[in-house]
Amino acid sequence: MARREADRTPQPSRSVAGTNLEFTRSHNRRVVLDTIRRLGPVSRAEIARETALTNQTISNIVEELEQAGFVLAGEPKREGRGQPSIPYAINPEGAWSLGFHVDHSAIIAALVDLTGKPVAIREIPAQRPSPRSAAPALRQLADELIEEAGVPASRLLGAGVALPVRFGVGAITTAGPTTLPGWDDPDARQHIAEALEQPVQIENDAMAAAIGERLHGVARAIDSFVFLFLDEGLGAGVFLGGQPWRGASLNAGEIGHMIVAPNGKPCPCGNRGCLERYLSLSAAQEFLADQPGAPALSELDGALSAPVERWVTEAAPYLAGAVNILESTLDPETILLGGLAPAGVLASLIEKAMPLPMSVGSRSGRSLPRLMAGSVGHHTVVLGAASLPIFDEINPRFDVLLKH
Ligand SMILES: [Zn+2]
Repeated sequence: MARREADRTPQPSRSVAGTNLEFTRSHNRRVVLDTIRRLGPVSRAEIARETALTNQTISNIVEELEQAGFVLAGEPKREGRGQPSIPYAINPEGAWSLGFHVDHSAIIAALVDLTGKPVAIREIPAQRPSPRSAAPALRQLADELIEEAGVPASRLLGAGVALPVRFGVGAITTAGPTTLPGWDDPDARQHIAEALEQPVQIENDAMAAAIGERLHGVARAIDSFVFLFLDEGLGAGVFLGGQPWRGASLNAGEIGHMIVAPNGKPCPCGNRGCLERYLSLSAAQEFLADQPGAPALSELDGALSAPVERWVTEAAPYLAGAVNILESTLDPETILLGGLAPAGVLASLIEKAMPLPMSVGSRSGRSLPRLMAGSVGHHTVVLGAASLPIFDEINPRFDVLLKH
């Protein structure tokens, strides 16, 4: 995958400034579009203050984006004696994007507008789908969604596929029960792209959810964060300096297999005492199976039962420990906890993890809590998947500059 090479480029520092050289036009376009996304409705003067681009450059790009239908001009506002300023915002109907969440038993598909809002969602059952067996189903779902929403196919940016995948043969979790094999093959992306006749990106579920959170969720204005993704296992999507951090082999964030209890519970990866053996839905289910009369986690709605509270009390110190480790290694602005667990369970885990152990994250003058709730629920991953093509279109990338 060409993206893999690009993803290995050095990560940038915090601020994203524009540059006025002609060859960086596509970078500048992303900088302007990203500024309108984050701050919109926003005037050209405000974009100039934010990006350090010249007024002329911004005018040209905004005009181009408006003509392309990506941004909408609002009513001119008169402030003081000068020229009235025109506020610009992302045009929700400027483009659409497809997302697929593929897992062991189902495929969820979503069509979203340019602001990430879903306009159509479908779900079908599937049995541990491979790229080859899933491709016709993805095509059929895509056609149905596009027809249902009445969206012109010419305005599609592409498709994102998110699933429990780890890259590289022999990587520890390819053998585990929580991943789907065959999707880390470079041919998989090509195969799906041919079936859909769209550009396709494949991403692991935790990173897709983190990208969705960065683009449309609570992390919109947070450049450095860790999104802890609690599902059957435990993964993380890491953002540093506004860029996803994927690591040397695209497997960064595989924190479920950090050893937190030497000689602890055995894990399918071969080690003992891995974090996800204590902090994950499968750990919760295992705990509840030993509790007479305990409800299945999937039946939880509203108040937590006493057995679930007991599991949360046992698991929360492991969450607190993970926060301490992540802060000590990455120094993020905040850590978000989200995923496929019921919202009440995640909220209770956060509450019971307090007070967090001391770390560099305990600094005074913080504007964000050290640990907070992120997106949760059944559609978190599919909406993250649908955000991949939009993110690719909008996010300023430094490798664009480095290539010249
Ligand atoms: Zn493990």
